[in-house]
Amino acid sequence: MPKVEDALLYAQEGMFIFPVHSCIHIPGGHIEGWGDTKPLTTCDCGDPDCLDIGKHPVVSHKLATCEYEQIHLWWGGRARYNIGVKSRKSYLVVLDVDPRSGGWESLARLQKDLGINFLGHRMYETGGGGVHIQFSAFTISIGVATIPGYPGLDVKGNVSDNYVILPPSNHKSGGKYKWINRVPPQDIPDALLDLISKKGVTPFGERTEVSQSKLKVPIMKLEGMEGMKDFGSYLKGKHPVHGATGGGNLIVYKADNFWICKRCGSKGRLLEMAAILAGLCECSDFVPGKQNPLKGQMFTKAIAACIILGVTKDEMVAYLGKEAPND
Ligand SMILES: [Zn+2]
Ligand SMILES: [Zn+2]
Repeated sequence: MPKVEDALLYAQEGMFIFPVHSCIHIPGGHIEGWGDTKPLTTCDCGDPDCLDIGKHPVVSHKLATCEYEQIHLWWGGRARYNIGVKSRKSYLVVLDVDPRSGGWESLARLQKDLGINFLGHRMYETGGGGVHIQFSAFTISIGVATIPGYPGLDVKGNVSDNYVILPPSNHKSGGKYKWINRVPPQDIPDALLDLISKKGVTPFGERTEVSQSKLKVPIMKLEGMEGMKDFGSYLKGKHPVHGATGGGNLIVYKADNFWICKRCGSKGRLLEMAAILAGLCECSDFVPGKQNPLKGQMFTKAIAACIILGVTKDEMVAYLGKEAPND
């Protein structure tokens, strides 16, 4: 069952986690009608009739975090909780392979059809005999979707309440979630995206609403952003203010001119980054769903910060377009 070390490792990877009830296996007990194969399992929530054994949250998934202190509070004591990861904050999309509905056959066919070797991706066994393959998706949101023509494969996307259970959590079948390939998640392949029913995939709101003016001053113009590595469509590097424990945790997308921080789960544009660089705000202030602090006086201060950090006044006027200061 998960220990605090397991949970801390996820935080280092930028996964936003929260405690989930675990399963209690009763030695020697078996569920009636299941023969000897299924052990008797109850949920540690204490409800003998629990319908979501070992899978439902102990606290609101909204509290999912990467903060070490909170993780110590949750997993450091005597409680042994399973680990849930909040997909939206972690920019995570999961391909769920369900063997009972022919998922393995479908996966093999999908690999051939798309020319993708899923084994090279971040992947783990679920306790119930299937696998989860994890991808990242930073610029689009995906709901819950099936893949037409491939039964037994489901996509659990990065929207609203979605979460999945992570190794080494335990499962009601008596098994455990186990890593197969623990590498950082790679971007969801375009070929796979094309297959997911179109209804399930939409750009993040921000991307569609972006006005042309927001592209006029590249974030990389700000002093302090030097040292990011160029990967073509995006730049990646250590966060200029809070740094990174592992590789690069800050990504700047060139075409859409916005950044995301994988440590904090935050994202923003020029003004948000200037406010962070100038020490007006914390990077974690810009987590989606939180009130954006750049209102009123703070908005004006962030504009001043841009100018101090090398953006000219004319550029600033072009960037702001016709929008009102507290837009
Ligand atoms: Zn329960
Ligand atoms: Zn951050």
